[in-house]
Amino acid sequence: MNLAHLLARTARVFPERPALLVGARAICSYSRLARRVATIAGGLRGRLGLQAGERVALLLGNCPQYLELLYAIWHAGLVAVPINGKLHAREVAFILEDSLASLLFVGGGDAAPSPAAAAMWSACMPRLRIIAVEDGDYRRLAAGEPLAVSVAAPDDIAWLFYTSGTTGRPKGVMLSHRNLLAMTLSYFADVDQVEPADSILYAAPMSHGAGMYNFVHVLVGARHVVPESGGFDAAEIIELARSLRQVSLFAAPTMVRRLVDQAAAQGGGGDGIKTIVYGGGPMYLADIQRALTVLGNRLVQIYGQGESPMTITALSRQHHADRGHPRHLDRLASVGVAHSVVEVIVADADGRSLPAGEIGEIWVRGETVMQGYWHNPEATAATLRGGWLHTGDVGSLDSDGFLTLRDRNKDVIISGGANIYPREVEEVLLQHPAVAEVAVVGRPNAEWGEEVVAFVVCRPEASAPSGQLDRLCLQSIARFKRPREYFFVAELPKNHYGKVLKTELRRQCAESGEN
Ligand code: AMP
Repeated sequence: MNLAHLLARTARVFPERPALLVGARAICSYSRLARRVATIAGGLRGRLGLQAGERVALLLGNCPQYLELLYAIWHAGLVAVPINGKLHAREVAFILEDSLASLLFVGGGDAAPSPAAAAMWSACMPRLRIIAVEDGDYRRLAAGEPLAVSVAAPDDIAWLFYTSGTTGRPKGVMLSHRNLLAMTLSYFADVDQVEPADSILYAAPMSHGAGMYNFVHVLVGARHVVPESGGFDAAEIIELARSLRQVSLFAAPTMVRRLVDQAAAQGGGGDGIKTIVYGGGPMYLADIQRALTVLGNRLVQIYGQGESPMTITALSRQHHADRGHPRHLDRLASVGVAHSVVEVIVADADGRSLPAGEIGEIWVRGETVMQGYWHNPEATAATLRGGWLHTGDVGSLDSDGFLTLRDRNKDVIISGGANIYPREVEEVLLQHPAVAEVAVVGRPNAEWGEEVVAFVVCRPEASAPSGQLDRLCLQSIARFKRPREYFFVAELPKNHYGKVLKTELRRQCAESGEN
């Protein structure tokens, strides 16, 4: 089924419901949104002459046009290629060329590209057409005849999702209409219930996970809110939640931390916030506990990756609240249990499924797993070997099916033949009250192969002497796991999705070792 039917159906059943809001201001009902989508789709196929299956790239800040363009693209039987608006012009050029996009929409918020960037893209892709959503060309696109929803086979590609590329070049993950529909329905089973009075607030880039939560909210006819700031502003979110009520959002762990700090400073708790779905990177136990104390029981964690979007495991609201359970803290430190639409196992290097408690690579199989990487049969074959998605993440399952992530395969430190999982050391260092953020990596060492070093960001006007950090480690983890050196830094290098670039930290270590 074509995903565009989700919107068409809601618009028929609940035409007058507000669909799009900018801040607290409603700007478009479901019937109007569906009409615009059908006419823009008509423009894409008619006026611009695009053929079914062609790729249309979106380089937009979070803006109301994002949603209408996504649905218009699917409505017209085309493939959406959302690109993070914060990427460098050269990174954008790579994605445009790799996906062979024939059309690029730009603008929305402050994301307009420079003329030099646009000239570079046109030079490397002479057939590429660029339309700014603020311009007359865009208005004309929506002024023609509406199109009927195109037929999409279940495995037709809907969303070409470029990986965030913490190492190497991004790859285009092919997500089909069926993949995204399965992801959508499993939200109701595993993450949360959604009601028409709910609002989904796009505080993280819609080109990534946050945008994928549109489906469940379209399906029930709830409201889609683009903040006036176009992005993440903790004070604005708290204010909007208070006025709109029943506001849900997807947030990366750093965003949750900032939201918690703001809510604590204002003293209002999580008033008006329905659900914060967090994930995309490790959220440490101490941070989860603080978030629960300050905001109340409004948290759900998801673990996923582009290759199985938002859907590998979930730690439900109930599990967050179940303080009386004997393994409550272990569960809070886990990423929850397998989503209902996938099987999750932990496998060893020979591909054997490991029993509870043993650590190995996390493999996933099921309805949400991608169709493969775009134009990359080698990477597809390697990642989907034997019918399982090899996530590259390392972890263990407990006997109740809760998955605890250790690290990315490549982040595991091997020192003197022993595996050290940086996350375990990071959890300990974060217990120091002066430590705001930390990243632990391996540094080449002639004797041990690798040794543990830590990059530490302290809270403002606070310090965490190495001796104190060492003592903390010695109190709770094996001596060989404690960092041999601490680097105190103002911030950690992160990519545009807020993920710490450990490759960059390893490079810095290797360079400092050579000097
Ligand atoms: P991406 O494909 O860019 O969304 O990145 C996916 C990767 O982010 C996963 O393979 C994990 O390494 C990490 N990740 C996602 N969700 C979580 C989570 N809840 N906890 C820890 N790491 C996560």
